[in-house]
Amino acid sequence: MNSYSGIGVSPGFAIGEAHLLLRDRTDIVPRFIEPEEIPDEVDRFRQAVTGARRQLRAVREKIAQHTRSDIAAFIDTHLLMLNDEALVEAPIASIREKQCAAEWALQLQRDALVRIFDEMEDPYLRTRKDDVDHVVNQILKNLHQEDEDDDLHQLEGKIIVAQDLTPADTILMRHQGVAAFVTEYGGPMSHTAILARSLGIPAVVGVHEATQNIEDTQQLIVDGQQGLVIVEPDGETHDQYLEKIEAERSRTASLQELIGKPAETLDGHRIQLLANIELPEDIATTRDLEADGVGLYRTEFLYMNRSDIPDEEEHFQAYRQVVDGLNGIPVTIRTLDLGADKQIDGSSVDESPVCNPALGLRAIRLCLKEPQLFMPQLRAILRASAFGPIRIMIPMISNLQEVRELKQLVQEAMNSLTRDGIGFDADIPIGGMIEIPAAALAANAFARELDFLSIGTNDLIQYTIAIDRVDDEVNYLFDPLHPSVLRLIQMVIDAGHTHNIPVSMCGEMAGDPRYIPLLLGMGLKMFSMQPGALLEAKRIFRNINATELQARVAPLMTQLDAPDTPERLTRLSGPDA
Ligand code: PEP
Ligand code: MG
Repeated sequence: MNSYSGIGVSPGFAIGEAHLLLRDRTDIVPRFIEPEEIPDEVDRFRQAVTGARRQLRAVREKIAQHTRSDIAAFIDTHLLMLNDEALVEAPIASIREKQCAAEWALQLQRDALVRIFDEMEDPYLRTRKDDVDHVVNQILKNLHQEDEDDDLHQLEGKIIVAQDLTPADTILMRHQGVAAFVTEYGGPMSHTAILARSLGIPAVVGVHEATQNIEDTQQLIVDGQQGLVIVEPDGETHDQYLEKIEAERSRTASLQELIGKPAETLDGHRIQLLANIELPEDIATTRDLEADGVGLYRTEFLYMNRSDIPDEEEHFQAYRQVVDGLNGIPVTIRTLDLGADKQIDGSSVDESPVCNPALGLRAIRLCLKEPQLFMPQLRAILRASAFGPIRIMIPMISNLQEVRELKQLVQEAMNSLTRDGIGFDADIPIGGMIEIPAAALAANAFARELDFLSIGTNDLIQYTIAIDRVDDEVNYLFDPLHPSVLRLIQMVIDAGHTHNIPVSMCGEMAGDPRYIPLLLGMGLKMFSMQPGALLEAKRIFRNINATELQARVAPLMTQLDAPDTPERLTRLSGPDA
């Protein structure tokens, strides 16, 4: 039995047989063909392209029935590329003129295109080379004559192990009943991770050399919670996981009974349970699970997996769809948070020209620097605010100047809409995400100028402890219970109370059953989490006493450095506390 750790990006457990998807371009060795082989080689290449088109169209048709417009757009982009001369005709020219084998000819053209993308000034466009890779892989798969049936069909119950997966593959997998997947590349924000979460498929990414260490048909366990892949588990481990899967199943079923009941503690405190949403289908889940609102709508997902930038109308349509679909519950739209972990799919993560993108020009910094990118989004949010309650939330604020500049831009957007005769909510609340330690330490100042605050613990912990949130080498240091992190969180909650503005938490910590009682004891009343975590959180709230927890937590907060405090906090934070 061996186990490999990666990053668990989609929770849940699965047991099944490994199915390796091998598309390693390093296999491609330069190979010349004889002149008389040229016509057949061109033919082989053309057939591979046709095969790739056929497969993508099949995926496209399938998803059309499932109204996945965002994902359909990925596939459309890839289909367009398959019709593009740059990708299709250039390799044919290399086969004819240089006598290159088809795979090599394709690889040469892929490298040439990627070089062009790399030279682009615009960091967003630079990331589009992932699309080139996805399309190249699709053609290569056909060139390798991998049997389509063997590849993405008959995968019922299998665990896919791949270097990376295309969005098209991931969607197909849902239809094929794939049990889980494991990839070598990618962080929590890679295409595949995003889709896995929204599709409810357990997934672990960043498992280095998975395709070398795991063999086809080996028995695997995927633990999407802990980011663990166990190969050929022994009987005991296998049985433990079977039990976990069973427990998970009955737990999910019993949680459904909580729909329709309030998120209220034993002593009558009503907690606001909010959803973090990304993709359009999160709307239905959020509505069905009766969230009190959306605490975080990650709009940067509108920018991903495509070759152009969304215009104002597209932003507007997306926001309108969310507002209309949520029947009047408030929606907190976070303005664009591109950069660092949200730039790209993990396969090109090391290509960033910036030394440390997490500390660079990202989120609100990027938006303020590039108002032409930002203005269409602001106008669209404001336009959508005429159709339902919307709040604007600014990511990564670090000083008040940013808040003032943002407000200035919002005012300009309002003025331009007024000039155009378009309606909007003139009192739209503007809040900020507290995810930088400097902002937490200055929470009072932000609370004076903003309508609400939301604590982004994913980044707050990363910056407080100085660990990259997507680097599994330092993941062991990622500790929500670190005294410094808790002090910062407490400061933000207190600032909200002092200035009488709402404070929520939308980092993963808020939806983690281990920390919910502690956070409630610290005075937090608004919890925002991925929709799948809402019912479990509600179950916890309905079984705890807020007043009692506050009385237990207050003294602990004054002794955070005492040696036994972490242990006491852990006990307190147990789901059955
Ligand atoms: C966070 O940083 O906690 C957060 C919610 O934002 P994101 O994970 O999108 O950076
Ligand atoms: Mg963040």
